[in-house]
Amino acid sequence: MDRHLHWIDGGDRAPLAGQFFEVRDPDNDRPFALAARGSAADVDAAVNAAQVAFAVYSRMPVGVREAILSRAAALLERDADEFAALMIQEVGSPVGKARNEIQRSIEMFRAAAGSTRYLAGKTLPSDTPDKMNLTLRVPVGVIASITPFNVPLGKGVRLSAVPLAFGNTVVMLPSEESPLMALRLARLYAEAGLPPGCLNIVTGFGHEVGDSLTGHPHVRSITFTGSTRVGAHIREIAARSGKKLTLELGGKSPLVVLDDADLPRAVAAAVQGSFGNQGQICMASSRVYVQRGIAASFIERFVAATRELRMGDLRDPATMIGPIINARQRERIAAHIDDALAKGARAECGARWVGHRCEPTVLTGVTREMACFSEETFGPVTAVHTVDTFEEALILANDTRYGLSAAIFTANLDHAMTYAMRIGSGMVHVNGSTSQAEPHVPFGGNGDSGFGREGPEYDMEAMTEWKWISLQLRPTR
Ligand code: NAD
Repeated sequence: MDRHLHWIDGGDRAPLAGQFFEVRDPDNDRPFALAARGSAADVDAAVNAAQVAFAVYSRMPVGVREAILSRAAALLERDADEFAALMIQEVGSPVGKARNEIQRSIEMFRAAAGSTRYLAGKTLPSDTPDKMNLTLRVPVGVIASITPFNVPLGKGVRLSAVPLAFGNTVVMLPSEESPLMALRLARLYAEAGLPPGCLNIVTGFGHEVGDSLTGHPHVRSITFTGSTRVGAHIREIAARSGKKLTLELGGKSPLVVLDDADLPRAVAAAVQGSFGNQGQICMASSRVYVQRGIAASFIERFVAATRELRMGDLRDPATMIGPIINARQRERIAAHIDDALAKGARAECGARWVGHRCEPTVLTGVTREMACFSEETFGPVTAVHTVDTFEEALILANDTRYGLSAAIFTANLDHAMTYAMRIGSGMVHVNGSTSQAEPHVPFGGNGDSGFGREGPEYDMEAMTEWKWISLQLRPTR
Protein backbone atom coordinates (compact mmCIF):
# COMPACT_ATOMS: atom_id res chain seq x y z
CA MET A 1 0.00 0.00 0.00
CA ASP A 2 1.23 3.49 -0.79
CA ARG A 3 2.35 5.49 2.24
CA HIS A 4 1.54 9.20 2.13
CA LEU A 5 3.53 11.67 4.21
CA HIS A 6 2.59 15.12 5.51
CA TRP A 7 3.16 18.07 3.16
CA ILE A 8 5.29 20.64 4.99
CA ASP A 9 7.45 23.45 3.63
CA GLY A 10 6.87 22.48 0.00
CA GLY A 11 7.62 18.76 0.25
CA ASP A 12 6.80 15.38 1.76
CA ARG A 13 7.61 15.12 5.46
CA ALA A 14 7.60 11.86 7.42
CA PRO A 15 5.55 11.91 10.64
CA LEU A 16 7.88 12.63 13.56
CA ALA A 17 6.28 9.90 15.69
CA GLY A 18 6.62 7.43 12.79
CA GLN A 19 2.92 6.49 12.85
CA PHE A 20 0.50 5.91 9.95
CA PHE A 21 -3.21 5.14 9.64
CA GLU A 22 -5.27 3.31 7.05
CA VAL A 23 -7.30 5.15 4.42
CA ARG A 24 -10.36 3.05 3.54
CA ASP A 25 -12.76 2.75 0.63
CA PRO A 26 -16.16 3.53 2.22
CA ASP A 27 -17.98 1.06 -0.04
CA ASN A 28 -16.27 -1.92 1.60
CA ASP A 29 -13.99 -0.51 4.35
CA ARG A 30 -10.96 -2.02 2.59
CA PRO A 31 -7.75 -0.05 3.25
CA PHE A 32 -6.08 1.12 0.04
CA ALA A 33 -3.40 3.52 1.37
CA LEU A 34 -1.61 4.64 4.50
CA ALA A 35 -1.39 8.27 5.59
CA ALA A 36 0.83 9.93 8.16
CA ARG A 37 -0.72 10.05 11.62
CA GLY A 38 0.13 13.54 12.80
CA SER A 39 1.36 14.54 16.23
CA ALA A 40 1.73 17.88 17.98
CA ALA A 41 5.36 17.96 16.81
CA ASP A 42 4.27 17.69 13.16
CA VAL A 43 1.76 20.50 13.69
CA ASP A 44 4.48 22.64 15.21
CA ALA A 45 6.77 22.03 12.22
CA ALA A 46 3.95 22.93 9.82
CA VAL A 47 2.99 26.12 11.67
CA ASN A 48 6.63 27.20 11.88
CA ALA A 49 7.05 26.64 8.11
CA ALA A 50 3.91 28.71 7.51
CA GLN A 51 5.15 31.44 9.83
CA VAL A 52 8.50 31.69 8.02
CA ALA A 53 6.83 31.65 4.58
CA PHE A 54 4.39 34.40 5.67
CA ALA A 55 7.20 36.95 5.99
CA VAL A 56 7.93 36.69 2.26
CA TYR A 57 4.57 35.63 0.80
CA SER A 58 2.57 38.42 2.48
CA ARG A 59 4.74 41.01 0.71
CA MET A 60 4.45 39.53 -2.77
CA PRO A 61 2.68 41.67 -5.37
CA VAL A 62 -1.00 40.84 -5.76
CA GLY A 63 -0.42 39.94 -9.39
CA VAL A 64 1.80 37.05 -8.27
CA ARG A 65 -0.87 35.68 -5.95
CA GLU A 66 -3.51 36.20 -8.63
CA ALA A 67 -1.41 34.26 -11.17
CA ILE A 68 -0.83 31.34 -8.78
CA LEU A 69 -4.54 30.98 -8.05
CA SER A 70 -5.46 31.34 -11.73
CA ARG A 71 -2.96 28.63 -12.65
CA ALA A 72 -4.39 26.44 -9.90
CA ALA A 73 -7.83 26.78 -11.54
CA ALA A 74 -6.39 25.75 -14.91
CA LEU A 75 -4.53 22.78 -13.41
CA LEU A 76 -7.66 21.55 -11.67
CA GLU A 77 -9.50 21.75 -14.98
CA ARG A 78 -6.68 19.78 -16.64
CA ASP A 79 -6.58 17.11 -13.91
CA ALA A 80 -10.34 16.89 -13.30
CA ASP A 81 -10.52 13.16 -14.17
CA GLU A 82 -7.83 12.30 -11.64
CA PHE A 83 -9.50 14.38 -8.91
CA ALA A 84 -12.88 12.76 -9.65
CA ALA A 85 -11.39 9.25 -9.43
CA LEU A 86 -9.77 10.07 -6.09
CA MET A 87 -12.99 11.55 -4.67
CA ILE A 88 -14.90 8.41 -5.71
CA GLN A 89 -12.36 6.11 -4.09
CA GLU A 90 -11.61 8.05 -0.93
CA VAL A 91 -15.04 9.33 0.16
CA GLY A 92 -17.46 7.35 -2.04
CA SER A 93 -18.80 10.33 -3.99
CA PRO A 94 -21.01 9.47 -6.97
CA VAL A 95 -19.29 10.81 -10.10
CA GLY A 96 -21.96 13.47 -10.74
CA LYS A 97 -21.37 14.97 -7.30
CA ALA A 98 -17.60 14.72 -7.79
CA ARG A 99 -17.72 16.52 -11.16
CA ASN A 100 -19.96 19.21 -9.73
CA GLU A 101 -17.64 19.75 -6.76
CA ILE A 102 -14.62 20.02 -9.07
CA GLN A 103 -16.39 22.62 -11.23
CA ARG A 104 -17.37 24.64 -8.12
CA SER A 105 -13.75 24.43 -6.93
CA ILE A 106 -12.44 25.77 -10.25
CA GLU A 107 -14.86 28.68 -9.88
CA MET A 108 -13.68 29.18 -6.29
CA PHE A 109 -10.06 29.42 -7.42
CA ARG A 110 -11.04 32.03 -10.01
CA ALA A 111 -13.06 34.06 -7.51
CA ALA A 112 -10.16 33.95 -5.03
CA ALA A 113 -7.72 35.02 -7.76
CA GLY A 114 -9.92 38.03 -8.53
CA SER A 115 -10.27 38.96 -4.88
CA THR A 116 -6.51 39.50 -4.48
CA ARG A 117 -7.01 42.92 -6.10
CA TYR A 118 -9.85 44.04 -3.83
CA LEU A 119 -8.19 44.28 -0.42
CA ALA A 120 -9.33 47.85 -0.28
CA GLY A 121 -8.67 50.35 2.53
CA LYS A 122 -10.10 53.83 3.05
CA THR A 123 -9.05 57.39 3.61
CA LEU A 124 -10.66 59.09 6.61
CA PRO A 125 -10.81 62.73 7.72
CA SER A 126 -8.89 63.94 10.77
CA ASP A 127 -9.48 66.26 13.73
CA THR A 128 -5.98 67.60 13.22
CA PRO A 129 -5.27 70.09 10.42
CA ASP A 130 -3.17 68.83 7.52
CA LYS A 131 -3.28 65.26 8.67
CA MET A 132 -4.40 62.26 6.61
CA ASN A 133 -5.78 59.01 7.98
CA LEU A 134 -5.44 55.89 5.85
CA THR A 135 -6.67 52.40 6.60
CA LEU A 136 -5.16 49.23 5.16
CA ARG A 137 -6.23 45.63 5.33
CA VAL A 138 -3.25 43.45 6.16
CA PRO A 139 -3.13 39.64 6.26
CA VAL A 140 -3.29 38.16 9.76
CA GLY A 141 -0.53 35.54 9.38
CA VAL A 142 -0.92 31.79 9.74
CA ILE A 143 -4.46 30.45 9.32
CA ALA A 144 -5.60 27.02 10.51
CA SER A 145 -7.97 25.49 7.93
CA ILE A 146 -9.91 22.45 9.08
CA THR A 147 -12.04 20.61 6.53
CA PRO A 148 -14.77 17.91 6.60
CA PHE A 149 -14.90 14.68 4.57
CA ASN A 150 -18.06 15.28 2.55
CA VAL A 151 -16.81 18.05 0.24
CA PRO A 152 -13.07 17.43 0.61
CA LEU A 153 -12.03 19.33 -2.50
CA GLY A 154 -14.65 22.07 -2.34
CA LYS A 155 -13.78 22.97 1.22
CA GLY A 156 -10.08 22.21 0.70
CA VAL A 157 -9.96 24.81 -2.07
CA ARG A 158 -12.19 27.34 -0.33
CA LEU A 159 -10.31 27.21 2.98
CA SER A 160 -6.94 27.58 1.27
CA ALA A 161 -7.48 29.79 -1.79
CA VAL A 162 -9.22 32.61 0.08
CA PRO A 163 -6.64 32.90 2.92
CA LEU A 164 -3.84 32.70 0.34
CA ALA A 165 -5.51 35.35 -1.83
CA PHE A 166 -5.20 37.83 1.04
CA GLY A 167 -1.52 37.05 1.67
CA ASN A 168 -1.89 34.65 4.59
CA THR A 169 -0.26 31.25 4.85
CA VAL A 170 -2.12 28.08 5.79
CA VAL A 171 -1.84 24.90 7.82
CA MET A 172 -4.61 22.51 6.82
CA LEU A 173 -5.94 19.62 8.84
CA PRO A 174 -8.15 17.58 6.50
CA SER A 175 -10.66 15.02 7.76
CA GLU A 176 -9.06 11.68 8.55
CA GLU A 177 -11.45 10.28 5.91
CA SER A 178 -9.92 12.37 3.11
CA PRO A 179 -6.20 12.99 3.64
CA LEU A 180 -5.24 12.06 0.07
CA MET A 181 -7.41 14.75 -1.50
CA ALA A 182 -5.72 17.43 0.61
CA LEU A 183 -2.25 16.10 -0.28
CA ARG A 184 -3.14 16.04 -4.00
CA LEU A 185 -4.35 19.63 -3.67
CA ALA A 186 -0.99 20.63 -2.13
CA ARG A 187 0.83 19.20 -5.17
CA LEU A 188 -1.48 21.12 -7.48
CA TYR A 189 -0.62 24.35 -5.67
CA ALA A 190 3.10 23.55 -5.89
CA GLU A 191 2.79 23.06 -9.65
CA ALA A 192 0.89 26.35 -9.84
CA GLY A 193 3.92 28.07 -8.32
CA LEU A 194 2.91 28.53 -4.68
CA PRO A 195 6.14 29.00 -2.70
CA PRO A 196 7.13 26.36 -0.11
CA GLY A 197 5.57 26.78 3.32
CA CYS A 198 2.53 28.76 2.16
CA LEU A 199 0.23 25.72 2.34
CA ASN A 200 1.07 22.87 4.69
CA ILE A 201 -0.97 19.72 5.26
CA VAL A 202 -0.87 17.70 8.46
CA THR A 203 -2.90 14.49 8.16
CA GLY A 204 -4.21 12.48 11.08
CA PHE A 205 -6.97 12.46 13.65
CA GLY A 206 -8.57 15.72 14.69
CA HIS A 207 -9.06 14.59 18.28
CA GLU A 208 -5.32 13.88 18.51
CA VAL A 209 -3.80 16.92 16.79
CA GLY A 210 -6.62 19.45 16.41
CA ASP A 211 -6.00 21.27 19.69
CA SER A 212 -2.29 21.63 19.03
CA LEU A 213 -3.20 23.38 15.77
CA THR A 214 -6.04 25.63 16.92
CA GLY A 215 -4.22 26.42 20.17
CA HIS A 216 -0.83 27.11 18.54
CA PRO A 217 0.37 30.60 19.47
CA HIS A 218 1.42 31.41 15.88
CA VAL A 219 -2.02 30.60 14.45
CA ARG A 220 -3.92 33.88 14.21
CA SER A 221 -7.21 32.79 12.69
CA ILE A 222 -9.17 29.54 12.39
CA THR A 223 -11.55 28.57 9.63
CA PHE A 224 -13.42 25.39 10.43
CA THR A 225 -16.03 23.36 8.57
CA GLY A 226 -17.41 20.29 10.31
CA SER A 227 -19.77 19.11 13.00
CA THR A 228 -21.45 21.37 15.54
CA ARG A 229 -19.86 19.32 18.35
CA VAL A 230 -16.27 19.93 17.23
CA GLY A 231 -17.11 23.50 16.25
CA ALA A 232 -18.26 24.28 19.81
CA HIS A 233 -14.98 22.92 21.18
CA ILE A 234 -12.94 25.06 18.76
CA ARG A 235 -14.98 28.16 19.64
CA GLU A 236 -13.84 27.80 23.25
CA ILE A 237 -10.19 27.51 22.23
CA ALA A 238 -10.47 30.52 19.93
CA ALA A 239 -12.17 32.58 22.64
CA ARG A 240 -9.52 31.68 25.23
CA SER A 241 -6.63 32.47 22.90
CA GLY A 242 -8.19 35.53 21.22
CA LYS A 243 -8.20 34.17 17.68
CA LYS A 244 -10.39 35.13 14.79
CA LEU A 245 -12.81 32.39 13.83
CA THR A 246 -15.20 31.22 11.13
CA LEU A 247 -17.36 28.16 11.84
CA GLU A 248 -19.41 26.37 9.16
CA LEU A 249 -21.31 23.62 10.97
CA GLY A 250 -24.24 21.26 10.61
CA GLY A 251 -27.84 21.90 9.64
CA LYS A 252 -31.44 20.74 9.65
CA SER A 253 -32.66 22.75 6.69
CA PRO A 254 -36.41 23.13 6.03
CA LEU A 255 -38.04 23.00 2.61
CA VAL A 256 -41.59 24.44 2.53
CA VAL A 257 -43.96 23.58 -0.33
CA LEU A 258 -47.18 25.59 -0.44
CA ASP A 259 -50.41 24.68 -2.25
CA ASP A 260 -49.63 27.03 -5.16
CA ALA A 261 -46.13 25.58 -5.79
CA ASP A 262 -44.88 24.27 -9.11
CA LEU A 263 -45.09 20.65 -8.01
CA PRO A 264 -42.59 18.99 -10.41
CA ARG A 265 -39.94 21.59 -9.56
CA ALA A 266 -40.60 21.28 -5.84
CA VAL A 267 -40.31 17.49 -6.04
CA ALA A 268 -37.06 17.72 -8.01
CA ALA A 269 -35.63 20.12 -5.40
CA ALA A 270 -36.73 17.84 -2.55
CA VAL A 271 -35.01 14.85 -4.18
CA GLN A 272 -31.79 16.70 -4.95
CA GLY A 273 -31.77 18.54 -1.62
CA SER A 274 -32.48 15.44 0.47
CA PHE A 275 -30.45 12.79 -1.30
CA GLY A 276 -27.56 14.49 -3.12
CA ASN A 277 -24.30 12.85 -1.94
CA GLN A 278 -26.59 10.36 -0.11
CA GLY A 279 -27.69 13.11 2.28
CA GLN A 280 -24.17 13.86 3.51
CA ILE A 281 -24.59 17.57 2.77
CA CYS A 282 -24.76 20.24 5.47
CA MET A 283 -27.62 22.00 3.61
CA ALA A 284 -29.66 18.80 3.13
CA SER A 285 -33.45 19.32 3.11
CA SER A 286 -34.02 16.95 6.01
CA ARG A 287 -37.37 18.56 6.94
CA VAL A 288 -40.08 19.08 4.31
CA TYR A 289 -43.30 20.95 5.21
CA VAL A 290 -46.08 20.52 2.64
CA GLN A 291 -49.41 22.32 2.69
CA ARG A 292 -52.35 19.94 3.08
CA GLY A 293 -54.01 20.64 -0.29
CA ILE A 294 -51.11 19.11 -2.23
CA ALA A 295 -49.61 16.87 0.46
CA ALA A 296 -50.87 13.54 -0.87
CA SER A 297 -49.86 14.35 -4.41
CA PHE A 298 -46.46 15.72 -3.33
CA ILE A 299 -45.67 12.65 -1.22
CA GLU A 300 -46.73 10.28 -4.00
CA ARG A 301 -44.47 12.03 -6.56
CA PHE A 302 -41.59 12.51 -4.11
CA VAL A 303 -41.61 8.82 -3.15
CA ALA A 304 -41.87 7.73 -6.80
CA ALA A 305 -38.91 9.92 -7.78
CA THR A 306 -36.92 8.73 -4.76
CA ARG A 307 -37.49 5.09 -5.70
CA GLU A 308 -35.90 5.84 -9.09
CA LEU A 309 -32.57 6.85 -7.53
CA ARG A 310 -29.85 4.42 -8.48
CA MET A 311 -27.23 2.80 -6.23
CA GLY A 312 -24.90 1.43 -8.92
CA ASP A 313 -21.26 1.93 -9.84
CA LEU A 314 -20.07 5.29 -8.50
CA ARG A 315 -18.39 5.99 -11.86
CA ASP A 316 -21.75 5.75 -13.66
CA PRO A 317 -23.36 9.22 -13.99
CA ALA A 318 -26.76 7.60 -13.37
CA THR A 319 -25.72 6.63 -9.83
CA MET A 320 -27.02 9.01 -7.19
CA ILE A 321 -26.63 7.02 -3.95
CA GLY A 322 -23.16 6.05 -2.76
CA PRO A 323 -21.87 4.60 0.51
CA ILE A 324 -22.02 6.26 3.92
CA ILE A 325 -18.54 7.31 4.93
CA ASN A 326 -17.82 5.08 7.94
CA ALA A 327 -19.27 2.66 10.50
CA ARG A 328 -19.91 5.41 13.06
CA GLN A 329 -22.03 7.41 10.60
CA ARG A 330 -23.84 4.29 9.38
CA GLU A 331 -24.75 3.45 12.97
CA ARG A 332 -26.02 6.98 13.55
CA ILE A 333 -28.25 6.90 10.46
CA ALA A 334 -29.57 3.41 11.29
CA ALA A 335 -30.28 4.55 14.86
CA HIS A 336 -32.25 7.57 13.62
CA ILE A 337 -34.35 5.42 11.28
CA ASP A 338 -34.94 2.66 13.87
CA ASP A 339 -35.83 5.19 16.55
CA ALA A 340 -38.36 6.92 14.27
CA LEU A 341 -39.99 3.65 13.18
CA ALA A 342 -40.11 2.33 16.75
CA LYS A 343 -41.90 5.49 17.88
CA GLY A 344 -44.55 5.32 15.16
CA ALA A 345 -43.13 7.00 12.04
CA ARG A 346 -43.81 5.40 8.67
CA ALA A 347 -41.17 4.75 5.99
CA GLU A 348 -42.81 5.63 2.67
CA CYS A 349 -39.72 4.21 0.98
CA GLY A 350 -36.17 3.18 1.84
CA ALA A 351 -35.11 2.36 5.42
CA ARG A 352 -33.09 -0.59 4.08
CA TRP A 353 -29.38 -1.10 3.61
CA VAL A 354 -27.48 -2.54 0.69
CA GLY A 355 -23.95 -3.06 1.98
CA HIS A 356 -22.74 0.34 3.17
CA ARG A 357 -25.45 2.21 1.26
CA CYS A 358 -28.69 3.32 2.81
CA GLU A 359 -31.70 3.38 0.50
CA PRO A 360 -33.05 6.95 0.31
CA THR A 361 -35.69 7.14 2.99
CA VAL A 362 -38.83 9.30 3.14
CA LEU A 363 -40.49 9.29 6.55
CA THR A 364 -43.93 10.55 7.52
CA GLY A 365 -45.45 10.81 10.99
CA VAL A 366 -42.18 12.06 12.52
CA THR A 367 -42.74 13.67 15.93
CA ARG A 368 -40.72 15.70 18.39
CA GLU A 369 -39.81 12.61 20.47
CA MET A 370 -37.82 11.15 17.58
CA ALA A 371 -34.12 11.97 17.21
CA CYS A 372 -34.42 12.73 13.49
CA PHE A 373 -37.03 15.44 14.22
CA SER A 374 -34.39 17.87 15.43
CA GLU A 375 -30.91 16.30 15.10
CA GLU A 376 -28.80 16.27 11.95
CA THR A 377 -28.87 12.73 10.51
CA PHE A 378 -26.26 13.39 7.80
CA GLY A 379 -27.61 10.60 5.62
CA PRO A 380 -30.37 9.98 3.05
CA VAL A 381 -33.29 10.43 5.44
CA THR A 382 -35.92 13.14 5.24
CA ALA A 383 -39.18 13.71 7.09
CA VAL A 384 -42.28 15.08 5.34
CA HIS A 385 -44.70 16.98 7.58
CA THR A 386 -48.16 18.19 6.54
CA VAL A 387 -49.18 21.73 7.52
CA ASP A 388 -52.41 23.67 7.13
CA THR A 389 -51.20 27.22 6.57
CA PHE A 390 -48.18 29.25 5.51
CA GLU A 391 -47.91 30.65 9.05
CA GLU A 392 -47.75 27.15 10.54
CA ALA A 393 -45.03 26.17 8.04
CA LEU A 394 -42.99 29.24 8.99
CA ILE A 395 -43.27 28.55 12.74
CA LEU A 396 -42.25 24.91 12.31
CA ALA A 397 -39.42 25.74 9.90
CA ASN A 398 -38.01 28.07 12.56
CA ASP A 399 -38.36 25.44 15.31
CA THR A 400 -34.66 24.44 15.31
CA ARG A 401 -31.31 25.18 16.94
CA TYR A 402 -29.74 25.23 13.51
CA GLY A 403 -29.92 28.00 10.94
CA LEU A 404 -27.96 27.15 7.82
CA SER A 405 -30.22 27.07 4.77
CA ALA A 406 -33.95 27.07 3.95
CA ALA A 407 -36.18 27.01 0.87
CA ILE A 408 -39.77 27.67 -0.11
CA PHE A 409 -41.75 26.76 -3.21
CA THR A 410 -44.68 29.09 -3.89
CA ALA A 411 -46.08 31.38 -6.57
CA ASN A 412 -47.08 33.93 -3.92
CA LEU A 413 -44.54 36.75 -3.68
CA ASP A 414 -45.84 37.85 -0.30
CA HIS A 415 -45.36 34.39 1.21
CA ALA A 416 -41.98 33.96 -0.47
CA MET A 417 -40.60 37.23 0.84
CA THR A 418 -42.20 36.93 4.29
CA TYR A 419 -40.55 33.52 4.63
CA ALA A 420 -37.21 34.86 3.36
CA MET A 421 -37.32 37.75 5.85
CA ARG A 422 -38.50 35.77 8.90
CA ILE A 423 -36.64 32.50 8.59
CA GLY A 424 -33.73 32.24 11.03
CA SER A 425 -31.23 30.74 8.58
CA GLY A 426 -28.25 32.47 6.99
CA MET A 427 -29.31 31.41 3.48
CA VAL A 428 -32.80 31.08 1.97
CA HIS A 429 -33.89 30.11 -1.52
CA VAL A 430 -37.19 30.86 -3.24
CA ASN A 431 -38.28 28.19 -5.72
CA GLY A 432 -34.90 26.46 -5.45
CA SER A 433 -33.17 23.76 -3.44
CA THR A 434 -31.80 24.25 0.09
CA SER A 435 -28.47 22.94 -1.20
CA GLN A 436 -26.79 25.71 -3.17
CA ALA A 437 -23.39 27.41 -3.10
CA GLU A 438 -21.58 30.03 -5.14
CA PRO A 439 -18.07 31.33 -4.49
CA HIS A 440 -18.87 35.03 -3.96
CA VAL A 441 -22.06 34.95 -1.85
CA PRO A 442 -22.08 35.17 1.98
CA PHE A 443 -22.16 31.44 2.71
CA GLY A 444 -22.91 30.34 6.26
CA GLY A 445 -25.39 29.94 9.05
CA ASN A 446 -26.62 31.01 12.47
CA GLY A 447 -27.06 29.31 15.83
CA ASP A 448 -25.72 25.77 15.89
CA SER A 449 -24.93 26.06 12.16
CA GLY A 450 -22.01 28.38 12.68
CA PHE A 451 -20.48 31.75 13.06
CA GLY A 452 -19.25 34.15 10.36
CA ARG A 453 -19.62 33.85 6.62
CA GLU A 454 -17.48 32.41 3.83
CA GLY A 455 -16.88 34.15 0.50
CA PRO A 456 -13.93 36.41 -0.29
CA GLU A 457 -15.68 39.67 0.65
CA TYR A 458 -16.90 38.28 4.01
CA ASP A 459 -13.85 36.19 4.88
CA MET A 460 -11.84 39.41 4.81
CA GLU A 461 -13.01 40.17 8.36
CA ALA A 462 -11.61 36.90 9.72
CA MET A 463 -8.51 36.77 7.55
CA THR A 464 -7.18 40.33 7.61
CA GLU A 465 -6.63 43.04 10.23
CA TRP A 466 -7.32 46.72 9.82
CA LYS A 467 -4.31 49.00 10.17
CA TRP A 468 -4.64 52.74 10.74
CA ILE A 469 -1.85 54.85 9.26
CA SER A 470 -1.78 58.59 9.87
CA LEU A 471 0.29 61.06 7.89
CA GLN A 472 1.03 64.51 9.26
CA LEU A 473 1.71 66.68 6.23
CA ARG A 474 3.38 69.56 8.11
CA PRO A 475 3.57 70.68 11.74
CA THR A 476 0.32 72.34 12.80
CA ARG A 477 2.00 74.92 15.06
P1 NAD B 1 -16.12 16.46 12.01
O1 NAD B 1 -16.49 17.57 12.92
O2 NAD B 1 -16.11 15.08 12.54
O3 NAD B 1 -14.67 16.70 11.41
C1 NAD B 1 -14.34 17.91 10.73
C2 NAD B 1 -12.88 18.21 10.93
O4 NAD B 1 -12.64 18.48 12.30
C3 NAD B 1 -11.93 17.07 10.54
O5 NAD B 1 -10.88 17.59 9.78
C4 NAD B 1 -11.41 16.58 11.87
O6 NAD B 1 -10.10 16.09 11.75
C5 NAD B 1 -11.41 17.88 12.67
N1 NAD B 1 -11.37 17.77 14.13
C6 NAD B 1 -11.88 16.80 14.92
N2 NAD B 1 -11.62 17.09 16.22
C7 NAD B 1 -10.94 18.26 16.24
C8 NAD B 1 -10.40 19.09 17.27
N3 NAD B 1 -10.48 18.78 18.56
N4 NAD B 1 -9.78 20.24 16.91
C9 NAD B 1 -9.68 20.60 15.61
N5 NAD B 1 -10.16 19.84 14.59
C10 NAD B 1 -10.79 18.70 14.91
O7 NAD B 1 -17.11 16.58 10.74
P2 NAD B 1 -17.22 15.60 9.47
O8 NAD B 1 -17.91 14.34 9.89
O9 NAD B 1 -15.94 15.51 8.75
O10 NAD B 1 -18.21 16.46 8.56
C11 NAD B 1 -19.59 16.42 8.68
C12 NAD B 1 -20.13 17.64 9.40
O11 NAD B 1 -19.67 18.81 8.76
C13 NAD B 1 -21.65 17.70 9.35
O12 NAD B 1 -22.14 18.13 10.59
C14 NAD B 1 -21.90 18.74 8.27
O13 NAD B 1 -23.16 19.36 8.38
C15 NAD B 1 -20.76 19.68 8.47
N6 NAD B 1 -20.50 20.44 7.26
C16 NAD B 1 -20.81 21.78 7.26
C17 NAD B 1 -20.62 22.54 6.10
C18 NAD B 1 -20.95 24.01 6.06
O14 NAD B 1 -20.47 24.71 5.18
N7 NAD B 1 -21.75 24.52 6.99
C19 NAD B 1 -20.09 21.92 4.95
C20 NAD B 1 -19.77 20.58 5.00
C21 NAD B 1 -19.98 19.84 6.16
